[in-house]
Amino acid sequence: MFESISQKFSGIMRSLSGKSKISEKNVRDAVEEIKLALLDADVNLRVVRRFVNGTLDEALGEKVLSAVDPGQQFVKIVYDRMVALLGDPEGQKLSLRGPDVVTVILMMGLQGSGKTTTSAKLALRLKKEGRRPLLAAADLVRPAAIDQLQVLGSKVDVPVHVLPGASDPVKVAVDALARAKREQRDVLIIDTAGRMHLDDTLMTEIKKVRDAVKPDETLFVADAMTGQNAVSIAEEFEKRIGISGVILSKFDSDARGGAALSLRSVVGKPIKFIGVGEKPEDFEPFYPERMASRILGMGDIVSLVEKAQETMDIEEAEKMQRKMAKNTFDLQDYLEQLDRMTKMGGVGKMLEMIPGTQGQISEDDIDKAELKREKAIIQSMTYTERENCHIIGPTRRKRIARGSGSSVNDVNRLLRKFEKMRLTMKKFAKNKKYQAEMLKQMGI
Ligand code: GDP
Repeated sequence: MFESISQKFSGIMRSLSGKSKISEKNVRDAVEEIKLALLDADVNLRVVRRFVNGTLDEALGEKVLSAVDPGQQFVKIVYDRMVALLGDPEGQKLSLRGPDVVTVILMMGLQGSGKTTTSAKLALRLKKEGRRPLLAAADLVRPAAIDQLQVLGSKVDVPVHVLPGASDPVKVAVDALARAKREQRDVLIIDTAGRMHLDDTLMTEIKKVRDAVKPDETLFVADAMTGQNAVSIAEEFEKRIGISGVILSKFDSDARGGAALSLRSVVGKPIKFIGVGEKPEDFEPFYPERMASRILGMGDIVSLVEKAQETMDIEEAEKMQRKMAKNTFDLQDYLEQLDRMTKMGGVGKMLEMIPGTQGQISEDDIDKAELKREKAIIQSMTYTERENCHIIGPTRRKRIARGSGSSVNDVNRLLRKFEKMRLTMKKFAKNKKYQAEMLKQMGI
């Protein structure tokens, strides 16, 4: 998602950001390009108009044209507006009650939007945060929905409340709430029925469930792939039932991003989470600032570092940081990093998050063969050599090259790169601004 729009925005931002002087025409041209990029991404027309007019007014004011660094000012205006377009400073988080009261979350959405999968994803996330969720299978329309939720529930190890033979979703929901209280569960997530299209029966049914369990959150699951359709259906749910937030599923698809960019503005409710794959763990909070940075081609270094942390436990991360600071990071550590990189979802996923790389480096540009070669080279070293690369003289280099099926030149290149990387790491451990620099040197 956002690939194409991000490429365009990066280009527009780059063309202005370094300039020490910009004219009114420069601003008008850039805003026109922004307009085209937004329209091309299938953003709602009203939203585009508001965004473009607001940006133009602000950018043509004194503040920009006479600023010392007008390009930078312009980028800041667009960034701030993008953040405001995407999010709500107050409402991004779920409103959860204390652990002694059950928080009720009602899940709604059309059939196929990903509602059942998302219910399990949310349960897993809350469980990881130390909550004790219970799932309720109140989708009695789609025959396979109950089984599907049970399978997902056992996958994420969260119990699923089912009333065999029940035909009234209200009964299931009320019964599940009683069980949640009985078993000291602190969150109840109710999966309700979806239909292929909006219909009155569906709305009435969900309203009855809502009135019976008085949810703290009514979350609408929107399928990002359906673009503006997702926006108008969310609007309808908001009008008729009331929603407290949106979860945008299938964010990993190549949808153009129009839904994500229009929802907040049109429906007036924030996107709280995004679904980024089919697996229960493919689920993330939605951060407007990080998303805006990504769209503008400014990267998303915070997510990148968080992702790295997820694949390492805290102790390991601290050990790594100590090693970097003391300059004792060795080739064995580097080998482990190469493995970790693969675990983090591959180079492509990481590339999207590195500042300044949008639209400039594609996954195809990355020399995957080189990374593989590096692994083979390190694996051909003894542990003593990996710990202390300075002892690797010409004879050892020859042996390592032979053992790994590469040339002495390849070994030399790796050792040079590693030395350079170690220097940056030392600085990096003390100063965060070297993060990107280090990643670049690692070849990603
Ligand atoms: P429901 O009818 O709304 O309950 O939809 P399901 O939960 O059955 O999901 C419909 C399909 O979408 C399933 O094949 C899911 O695996 C898939 N799906 C759900 N969320 C995501 C997501 O975030 N990314 C991707 N790629 N697929 C998803």
